[in-house]
Amino acid sequence: MDRLASTKIIYLKGVGPVRGKLLEDELGIATFRDLLYTAPRRYIDRRRVYRIRELQEDMPDVQVAGRFLRFDMEGEGAKKRLTGLFTDGQTMMQVVWFNRHKQIAEAYNTSTTYLLLGKPNNFKGTWSMAHPEIEVFDPAKPPEGLRGVYPLTETLRRRGFTLRTIPNLISTIWANTREINDTLPQALLQKYSLMPLKEALHQIHNPDSPQALQLARERLKFEELFYLELHIMRYARARNEKLRGQIFSKVGPFFNKFYSEVLPFELTGAQKRVLREIRQDTRTGAQMNRLLQGDVGSGKTMVAFMSMLLAVDNGCQACMLAPTEILATQHYEAISEWAEKIGLNVRLLTGSTRAKARREIDQGLLSGEINILIGTHAVIEERVQFRNLGMAVIDEQHRFGVAQRARIWGKNEVPPHVLVMTATPIPRTLAMTLYGDLQVSVIDELPPGRKPITTMLRYDSQRMSMWRGVGTELKAGRQAYVVVPLISENEKLSLRSLEEAYEAVCDIFSDYKVARVHGKMKPSEKDYQMQLFASGEAQILVATTVIEVGVNVPNASVMVIENAERFGLSQLHQLRGRVGRGADKSYCILMTHEKINPTTRKRLEIMTSTTDGFLIAEADMHMRGPGDMEGTQQSGLALNLRHASLVTDGQILERAREAAEAVLNGNMTLHKINAAAPSGATAIQLPATDLALLGRELSLRFANDKDWGLIS
Ligand code: ADP
Ligand code: MG
Repeated sequence: MDRLASTKIIYLKGVGPVRGKLLEDELGIATFRDLLYTAPRRYIDRRRVYRIRELQEDMPDVQVAGRFLRFDMEGEGAKKRLTGLFTDGQTMMQVVWFNRHKQIAEAYNTSTTYLLLGKPNNFKGTWSMAHPEIEVFDPAKPPEGLRGVYPLTETLRRRGFTLRTIPNLISTIWANTREINDTLPQALLQKYSLMPLKEALHQIHNPDSPQALQLARERLKFEELFYLELHIMRYARARNEKLRGQIFSKVGPFFNKFYSEVLPFELTGAQKRVLREIRQDTRTGAQMNRLLQGDVGSGKTMVAFMSMLLAVDNGCQACMLAPTEILATQHYEAISEWAEKIGLNVRLLTGSTRAKARREIDQGLLSGEINILIGTHAVIEERVQFRNLGMAVIDEQHRFGVAQRARIWGKNEVPPHVLVMTATPIPRTLAMTLYGDLQVSVIDELPPGRKPITTMLRYDSQRMSMWRGVGTELKAGRQAYVVVPLISENEKLSLRSLEEAYEAVCDIFSDYKVARVHGKMKPSEKDYQMQLFASGEAQILVATTVIEVGVNVPNASVMVIENAERFGLSQLHQLRGRVGRGADKSYCILMTHEKINPTTRKRLEIMTSTTDGFLIAEADMHMRGPGDMEGTQQSGLALNLRHASLVTDGQILERAREAAEAVLNGNMTLHKINAAAPSGATAIQLPATDLALLGRELSLRFANDKDWGLIS
């Protein structure tokens, strides 16, 4: 296998530099091994021969049997092509060749029955197939088994690759390969009943049966996920062993005083559990990196604040980062109120903090006078220096990349504990992989007394009755949000839709005051408008998604979301979390056109059927794939696994993780594997798994490791 991995594809007979480059550019195939690991996209059941009238638009490659009636040359010059009129005895079809006319005309005739394999196209009711694969068809001996169909891009087709090209190249490799060493140890193969590598690679290309194919696929998925997990876990462990954190040995007076005298409500069981987890982490001397997931409104801020009190009780400072100025300000307001009552000094630092205040803050942080700093990205700027930062909380993780997390570590000689909070629920299987180096805590319980939010899907034709419903709430003294989508490719358009919505709302509700905010406003204007709504002076707020995170107006009981189909489910869920914060019944109305397609309708119906953020995230992921999930994109982690899917292979992932853990715990050895690999933190190669799939994320972490002396 080592030789296969190191031999460039250009050296394969029939490839050469030009096709080699094409294979690499188009399909990421650079070595012999890459090619062997390129699995068919799908398989054709060779026994299934279609009638032409059974064909449908968007069918992948299919087989049809019949005869040619005649061949014609058509067109001139570059457009010249050879066509064959083909019939299965009932229906006609046209077969087209754009090159190799002479050979084709000589190879086929009108008296033989052929089996064609290709992708059918329909043009104005007539079926055609371009460059199909053709073989003689004997109805007495029909073909059997499964035939792999390999990925083939448009460019490759144009450059002369056919459906046969890749399988032929793979056969060439097989013919010249004597030995394929397994990449997994025997013990693992046995324990998890995995097919040996050599057989799996055979079966994936030429399956004997659907069952064998299934086992082969499982084996390759397992291998891929196993090495992925091994890599992540090794890294996390190495870091945990080497990195020493602050030791918070005690729960002191600030925490206790706050808990017994100030805390305005009873903590939920989940909040208490998470605080215990954080307490455990921070007393051991290891550096905490914990991800706190909790649905909108689950009370993460309180957990964050009380964790910061732990730091202060142990002679440290704490900071909290929020993604926007509005959010940072809101946190500041809540937290400074609590903190004042126990005599702590809290300051706010954002991009619009004035020079004089900034100097005070710089001073106060260095002297230790400031206990808690709340702010935006401004907090991680170089010039911000703490006397002894012990705890950093990051709210809404997905807006901060790992690079920024890393910069926080650098804020102190002993790196601070880091608590990352997110309301984007990440399904467990994905979290395990994306955040393999983070411990995960979950707040899975909402504070008591919340009334459920009723979500409805409404169409444009129901607009007037929808507004009447909103009017009823306003009359009862409640407030309403109207949200329009942010059209990222077209700022002008999204502003216009905001203005239109604003004018429509002003028109309909002329007795009420309407505020509006959007991302392009000056911060001061935005704050003013938000304040109008927060104070209750304005009853309606028309906004783009700037209100997505954090804004807290308990009196708001309705949210109308325009063009709901343009939003991701998780985003809708976040938005919806802005209502249902007071004690009253709340409503979320998803507005959309009559003409949405069934998939979109199904997506939106998930919103009307559940308020469980995890279910929604899971559904979102199934429908869009994890790469598309909000948050994962921004975190820079594009997972393009070759065989496994984080969405559907959760079970294999868990087994792979268990196996990786066993190996790391020394209960199983990986020796002999990758014997040629250098030793050290990155010794284990990821067979068939492009290291790049770990994305910038991991390489950033590695870069950071150097600073911490993890990698010499
Ligand atoms: P999120 O997790 O979305 O950040 P917040 O921390 O903003 O949620 O909390 C939402 C609201 O619930 C806040 O007004 C907060 O004061 C309140 N809250 C938090 N914990 C509790 C609790 N245990 N009991 C009652 N209300 C709580
Ligand atoms: Mg929050």
